[in-house]
Formats: sequence, structure tokens, C-alpha cells
Amino acid sequence: MSEAWWHQPVRVFQHLLRERDAIGLDPAALIDEAKAMSADAYLSMGAGFSTWYPTALSSQQVNPHLQGDFLGTVIDAAHRRGLRAIVRVDISKGRADWLTRDPDWFTRDVDGAPRLIWEMPQTCATGAFWQREAFAMLDEMLARYRIDGFFFNYLNVGRCHCARCEAVVRAATGAAVPQSGERTPGYERWRQDYLAAFFTRVRDFVHASAPGTALIPYHHLRDGWSYRTMAGIADIVSAQCSNPVVVNPIDPQPQWTHWAAEEALLARAVKPGVAPMLVHSGSAFFASRQTAIPGDRLVRSLIQGAAHGAPPMPAINGRLALDDPRAVAAMRDFARFHARNARWYRDLTSLARIAVLRSQDSIDWGPDGGRAAGDARVHGHVAEFRGVYEMITALRYPCDLLPDGGVTREELARYAVVVLPAVSCLSDDDAAALDAYVSGGGVVIATGDFGACDGDGRRRTRAVLSALPALPGAPRSLGGAYFRLVYPELQEILGGIPHVGADGAFWSPALADSEGDLRVVGPFSNNAPEFTIVEGAGTDPGLIGRRHDAGRAWWLPWRIGALHHHFAIPEYPAVLGHLLAQVVGAPPIRTAAPPAVECILYAHRDGELLHLINNAALQSKPYIATIALAGFDVAVTSRAVRARRLDSDMPVTLRRDGNEIWFRLDRLDTFAAIALCADSES
Ligand SMILES: [Zn+2]
Repeated sequence: MSEAWWHQPVRVFQHLLRERDAIGLDPAALIDEAKAMSADAYLSMGAGFSTWYPTALSSQQVNPHLQGDFLGTVIDAAHRRGLRAIVRVDISKGRADWLTRDPDWFTRDVDGAPRLIWEMPQTCATGAFWQREAFAMLDEMLARYRIDGFFFNYLNVGRCHCARCEAVVRAATGAAVPQSGERTPGYERWRQDYLAAFFTRVRDFVHASAPGTALIPYHHLRDGWSYRTMAGIADIVSAQCSNPVVVNPIDPQPQWTHWAAEEALLARAVKPGVAPMLVHSGSAFFASRQTAIPGDRLVRSLIQGAAHGAPPMPAINGRLALDDPRAVAAMRDFARFHARNARWYRDLTSLARIAVLRSQDSIDWGPDGGRAAGDARVHGHVAEFRGVYEMITALRYPCDLLPDGGVTREELARYAVVVLPAVSCLSDDDAAALDAYVSGGGVVIATGDFGACDGDGRRRTRAVLSALPALPGAPRSLGGAYFRLVYPELQEILGGIPHVGADGAFWSPALADSEGDLRVVGPFSNNAPEFTIVEGAGTDPGLIGRRHDAGRAWWLPWRIGALHHHFAIPEYPAVLGHLLAQVVGAPPIRTAAPPAVECILYAHRDGELLHLINNAALQSKPYIATIALAGFDVAVTSRAVRARRLDSDMPVTLRRDGNEIWFRLDRLDTFAAIALCADSES
């Protein structure tokens, strides 16, 4: 059997059409616009509360402005022009008047009132709309059209207090559906399992009649998702990384520099060989959709995803001739660039020997309280994870990400070191895989209150890892304290200084058979300058190391990542880099470029692909427009004999020095994409 189409990366283009856009619309013109965007797949408006074909089902509302069979025509036009046709389906909401006609299709508050999403009633997952009508929709479309994929928008199980849901949840969890604002592990796991079981049925149903049709579940926050489980069911992983300037006011999304990289790397981990569909919306405001995102900001995000193997997937509201079309040219030019260099953007092989665990359990049940962007008042896993990723990136190490909830020893074995950033909640299964990894010679670096709770946030009474056999205990504050530097090598890296500043929460795990550095001095309760004499060898270590079987474990029982994420403390990457270098040696990239320049390096069958991305922005302001940087030298460990700029005609002159090649970049605008060619022909 030939390989499914989604095993090749595709550039998807999506018009998020308003219903009124259907007036006088020639569907073939949309495919012209997708072609102009160098797309090889088109994501079309399709089915659900706004249906774009003449359905015979009363469970769908045909767009009142629809003329003819939009969906059939657009699919034909796409296929004629060589594009795949993916259909957008939304079963999360219904029309207001369906509430009176089919009241038990919809979710209910505890007092019986319907729950609304954007003024539309939210559908109940246990009701007939999901259980029967969703399948009827798919059946009808599959009978009429040749569809290459279904994109399920806003797919999650909404909280519902209807009698049916209450009974189902009680039977499964032994408890009622939690009140609004309350989250419980039992209910959240039920939601995840219910969604996974439902979508498995959807996938099997579609594949039974159309095996070449891809199933793509999507929710912008993955609310109520088990990431690994849903990725296992999906044919293609999809996620949002739009990074609007003004984030979603209802459920704040992560406004963060490495969002596209994070999503691309997570997808690589769970679905190797299938490029993800990362949605980049063309909006500057999450809520005011029709305002264009600044072009440079969009391109910076697109290239970051592409550098990790995720093709561009812009989504624009309406047609290309928008009332605010300012981002369109940047989108089009970027897609053309990507299409022109498609062969360099496929089959990228990770060079990472470092992995970082992303712990959804810690986000859900730790201090972040389930917030996608973390809790600004309390540092949890989100800030720690981001800071650790930023430090590793600034140190110029390639790094992979591993989602929690099903980590295996085999997947860990690819890495020399695995970083566990404030993984306060860790399941027994993930812990067993980590222990086996360390026993077999692996190295882990844990930070913060590692292993304080199990995967459901229940306090542990025994240490979770044999490699780090202690609980973190209770924290104390290090505001006004110092870390005394003991190891001469680390002191030397830091220019011979005696100590570095400390802050935030600090734990003191009682680890036997361990060694330590970064001994705490203080905190000083009298911080008057007349009395701040930093004396003594220090007490508890802020860096604890211990051997375990063939491997090794380190614990930094404070929030090195979160402190760096928020304050950019320059000594902290040096501390982390000192540990990493002992395990994996020097990074494969060396450059005098500022930390604002992000380097992404992958192996390719013809050599390597290097990206230099300019993340420079005004202090304390989001990235709006590129601030060009003056030149710098770059050294890369590489077998290249020749280099070629993919994004411009600028020549790149290589100089070899041992196993490194050197070149100079005279100026960096938004990004530079450089093919490092292993032979003179490629
Ligand atoms: Zn219900």
C-alpha cells in the first residue's frame, strides 16, 4: 500500500470565511488565492452550525447566503489544481433556535441554563448531536465528495450538568460533574478519555469508507485533551501558534517567543515523519480578528515552525483582498520561499542530544492551575519550562521536547540528558521510564519542586525516582540570599566571582550519597549595606549531584528557569551550560551573535539546515517589526563544503577549521536560512 499523503509535508491555506462572503462567491477563485499562497492543500469551510453545502440533515444549518454547492465546487477546483481538499467541521456549537427544537443536544449549567460559546449554545458530548448527527454529517459528505481530510475545529468535551452527563460521569468517576470554576483530576481524566474514545470512533468510521482521508482534531488550547493520546488517534497533529499581539482575553494564550518551536517539537516527538499543521492566524488581536498582524511578527513565527519541519499554515479571515490586507504580502512571500526550498524543509533529522520534558500534569495540577500561559503570580512549570528552553537555545544546543503522559524508555534512550523543569507532578509510569533511563546510563537534570506530587497532583509521601530518592519538602524563600560557588570549573566560567544571586522558592531535598555546589548563604534579614558581608561556606546546596547505577542525576531545587525567563539572569545559563557540557560536550554552534539570535540546526540528507532567527524586540514590548542586527561570525560543527542562503542571493563564504566551518553574516533581518551542503552539487 502506498504511503498516505500526509507523510509528505503540505502547505495548507485556510480562508476563515464569514457567512456573508458566500454572496457572489466563485469557489474556484479561493483556490486561485490558495495557489497564490503556494499551498498544496486547501482547508475549506464545511459542516456543522454553518454548513457550506446543501445538506439534507436538519442537524446542520446551511449558510443562509450559500449559492449552489460551495463545498462540492471548491473540492473539485482544489483537485483540478492539484491541491488536497480538507474540510472544516465544527460540532462544538449549534444555532440558538436548535435549543428549543433539540434541547438535549446542548450543555447545561448546574441550574439548567444552556452554556454558550460566543453566544452559541455549546453541544453536549454525550447527546445525540455528537453520538449520531456528527456521524451522519461525515457519512453525507463522504458519500458526496472526495475529501482528503477532516479538520475538527474547537474539539473538546464541554462541561455539562445535564442529567445524562451527570449519570455518565458519576458512573465513571464516582462523583458529580464539578461546579463551574472547579477542576478535579477524576473529571478531567474522564473528559480526556471520553474525547479520545469519541474521536477514535470518528477516525475508524471515516477510515472504514475512506482510508485515505486524514483526521485532524484541533482545539486552540487543547482543553480537555491528553496530548499523546489525541496525537496517537489523529493522522496529523494540529495546534495553534498564532501569537497575536493582543492575546485571547478569555483564556489567555501563551504570548511567547518560542511558541511555534514548542508546538513543532512536541509534534515531532509524538508523530515523527508527519509534519504538523500549525495554524498561524493573520490577526493582530485574538478577539478583533479583522485587524492584520504585523508582517514581520508573522514571518518570525512562521520561520521558527518551518525550521523545525512544520510547513506554514496561514489562516486569514475573509478573502485576500481584506479590509486590512497588510499581512498578506508577507504571508505570500514566505510561502513562496518555503515552496521554492521545499526539498530542504523535508526529512529534517534532529541533532538534539538534550530533551526537555513538558509536563501537562504539572501545568494542570501544579501552581499554574491549568492556565496555558501559567499563573503570573506563582511560578509553576510553564515559566520554568520556558526559561529552561530559552537557556538551552541561548547556549546554542539543539534540544527536543517530550510531552509527559506516556514517556517511554526507548524514546528517552535517544538523549544523553533529559531536563525536568519544575516537574512538580509526575506519574508513576513516566517516573519508571525515567528511572530505567538513568539506570541505563542516562542523565537527568531536575529543577524546582521536582516530584512533589503524582500525575493527578496528590502529594507524594515517597520519592518518585530512585535516581533522586528524596521529596523536595517544604520551600523557603531565598530573597536576599546568595549561592556560594564551590566547583572551581564553574567559578572559572563565571569569571572567578565567589557567588551568584539567589531568589524565589528553594527546597532542601535530603539526598544521601550526593555532592553539592551553589551553597546557600543567607538570606540576610538585615540587608542594610553596612552589614551585607557574604561570609561562610554556605549551607544547603542549590546544585545536588548523585550517581545512580550507570547514570547520573542533578537537582537544582529552585526555579532557575522561571527566574531566567522573567529576569534574564546571565549567570544561570552558565550554570546549566556547565552541567550540559559535561554530558554532551560543546554545542555544535558557536557565535558572537547576541542571545536574541536564535539558531536552529537540523541534519538533512544533503548536509545540514541552519536557521538564524532574529528575536530582537524593544525591551518589555512584544516583537512587532524586525530590528536588523549588524554582522557576526558563526561556527558550526559540520561536514559542509559549501553553503547557500535559501532566503536571499547573498553569498556565504565558508572557511573550514578542523571539524567546524566558519562564515560571516553581515546583517540579519528577520531570518537567514542557510543550507550547509555536504557536497558541491547540492
Ligand atoms: Zn450533557
